Amino acid sequence: MVEGELHGVIALDGPSGTGKSTVARRLATLLGAGYLDTGAMYRTVTLAALRAGVDPSDHDAVARIAEHVALSITTDPVHQEVLLGEESVGIEIRGQAVTLAVSAVSAVPRVRELLKVRQQELIADACASYGGIVVEGRDIGTVIAPNAALKVFLTASSDARARRRTTQDTAEGRESSLDATRQDVDRRDRLDTSRAASPLQPAGDAVWLDTTNLDIQGVLDRILELVDERELRGVAAGPGRW
Ligand code: C5P
Repeated sequence: MVEGELHGVIALDGPSGTGKSTVARRLATLLGAGYLDTGAMYRTVTLAALRAGVDPSDHDAVARIAEHVALSITTDPVHQEVLLGEESVGIEIRGQAVTLAVSAVSAVPRVRELLKVRQQELIADACASYGGIVVEGRDIGTVIAPNAALKVFLTASSDARARRRTTQDTAEGRESSLDATRQDVDRRDRLDTSRAASPLQPAGDAVWLDTTNLDIQGVLDRILELVDERELRGVAAGPGRW
């Protein structure tokens, strides 16, 4: 048992480029909590579909891939690992091919249903071992952990999001231009927001946090204030807290 400071679930939702991943990981590390990147799970199913030569818009074929995919992901914020079978795919799933196809795959209701079960198991396991977990995605506060102790919906201007994504891509060695990234970010947001199955939307009880003019530390400080206001450090979670 690696009991951390956080008790319960923090749900971090929002579109890409809002700083979600960096913030979620650092927050989990600071609080001694688990960390779950649900986007990485959708990306891994997408990679499996692409490798099988499946058209991402073919719902039945994509659903069959999701039924059988050998996907595993760790919830350790310091050593995150995403495996497809025995293979570590953490880098490949961030590449352009997967990024272009992932919104189509994640719009398939059966894929969401299957990943929901996995995500809820991972959250329950992490709560049992760490005490709490920070989960990032698009539907965490609405569908995956509707009873989360804290829900934060991150936003930022389209320009700021495109700039951040470009900086991140370049830093991680991927080719990137601001215009292409802006188009990709806008396209994915449109698809993620308009799909029928658990679209990207804030939970009614989420706290909105506009990160346009904040750096990572600024976002972390604000979320830590919320954690303390709700007394989520060092207190045992009551039943049904997530
Ligand atoms: O967070 P990330 O940009 O890696 O997510 C990739 C894609 O996975 C999103 O654009 C979205 O289509 C999908 N996704 C989702 N629900 C989540 C997490 C990610 O539909 N909870």
